[in-house]
Amino acid sequence: MPHAKPMSLAEIVPSDVRRICKRFAAAGYRAWVVGGCTRDLLLGRPVHDWDLATNALPSAVMQLFPRVIPTGVQHGTVTVMLGPNGFEVTTLRGEGAYSDGRHPDSVRFVSDLREDLARRDFTINAIALDPLDGVLHDPFDGRSDLERRLIRAVGRPQERFGEDGLRVLRAARFAAMLDFDIEPATLAAIPSAHATLAKVSMERVRDELLKTMSARHPSRGLQIMLDTGILAVVLPELLPMVGCEQNKYHAYDVWTHTLHCVDASPDDVLLRLAALLHDVGKPGVRAIGEKTADYTFYEHERVGAPIADKICTRLKLSNEQRARVVHLVAEHLVVYDPQWSDAAVRRWIRRVGAESVADVLALARADADAKGVDSSDTIARLHQLHTRVDALTAQGAALTVRDLAINGNDLMRELQVPPGPWIGRILDHLLEIVLEDPSANQPDRLLHAARSFVLSGQASCPR
Ligand code: ATP
Ligand code: MG
Repeated sequence: MPHAKPMSLAEIVPSDVRRICKRFAAAGYRAWVVGGCTRDLLLGRPVHDWDLATNALPSAVMQLFPRVIPTGVQHGTVTVMLGPNGFEVTTLRGEGAYSDGRHPDSVRFVSDLREDLARRDFTINAIALDPLDGVLHDPFDGRSDLERRLIRAVGRPQERFGEDGLRVLRAARFAAMLDFDIEPATLAAIPSAHATLAKVSMERVRDELLKTMSARHPSRGLQIMLDTGILAVVLPELLPMVGCEQNKYHAYDVWTHTLHCVDASPDDVLLRLAALLHDVGKPGVRAIGEKTADYTFYEHERVGAPIADKICTRLKLSNEQRARVVHLVAEHLVVYDPQWSDAAVRRWIRRVGAESVADVLALARADADAKGVDSSDTIARLHQLHTRVDALTAQGAALTVRDLAINGNDLMRELQVPPGPWIGRILDHLLEIVLEDPSANQPDRLLHAARSFVLSGQASCPR
């Protein structure tokens, strides 16, 4: 069989993208595939978003295509819709001044592709491909850096970092994401940008941090952040973890253990953020145990949760995202014992929440994997707990008051009690009974138990 001719880069570009470029060409303009997608195309990595640059002004782009969304017209970006897919098309831009270190003061449209590539952060992100003629425009020799696996600033690194402090965090992020090194002069310029980084909006910092978490080994980016002082600017709460030695259950200090834990966690950015923060409370509670003469870290999860909360709030995570991370930090210590009764397992599920069980166990597993000592016993136990949770869940056992066979209205009607906080107390009491004995989850038995509870006075309910 004859060998198939390898596909050229231009041929790999989806036909929709080529259609857009042809439409520009027919109207006398040009368009190129730029930035991350050209980089990923050259690396053979999957391309998620196809970004285009054009020498047409946004107003012309909007006229050329029937369906467009003016995503960021003031910055020159228009989303062109083809069927269900959107393609960001940005007019060639020159570098404006960044007097606040956050946003360019003005956007200047240009006609020269090279000028647009010159404002980009790293040489590997400053390559353009014309999918119609297959020509690569690579004025800063990004291809050599791709081959050498290097993150190198376009132009003078100190100047470029001084314009936009986020770029230093992006350097660490790309190093992790691509498993590249940062070129020495670029690396050496990072500390000069700390003050500029401190001015960057938290939303942008958050987005880069979370993208770092989706790398195969986020630890690579995190260690660079520590070594270059980026971490001290964006996550200073983590610094006491560095060099915080642990006890005989651990081979590593808290920081190194944390890096291993992040890498060992499933590819879920919030779960990995929780892994990064799971032991943030440890340095603050470290003490010497009286009997063992070894370090203890009692209540570190309880102390760590509010620190994680503060960090997530500062990073402007949504309430839901923050709640998930903080809950994981608070519950990451799973002290399961195979002696636990089914009732004890049900109580544990109720505490962590049925919807969080998989998360908590995944984090606990990564935590065990990351200790640098043999943790096969712990891992086997976590596995057993998971199996028992699945079995109990499949039985349909009641795990929350919503699963009870009666509700608050039933209580008020049958027991003739007014609405009030006692209703919640009574339902909690009933759930305790049902967690112990699932067969008690029947209306008549629950009402009977509720009546006794009220009569005993423990519900503090007016009668
Ligand atoms: P990813 O594949 O993770 O999206 P990306 O390189 O596409 O990576 P984006 O943030 O989507 O990153 O940015 C697209 C392109 O815009 C970059 O490749 C780069 O050329 C340019 N760019 C983005 N942010 C900056 C910045 N802060 N300074 C200079 N150029 C930037
Ligand atoms: Mg991108």
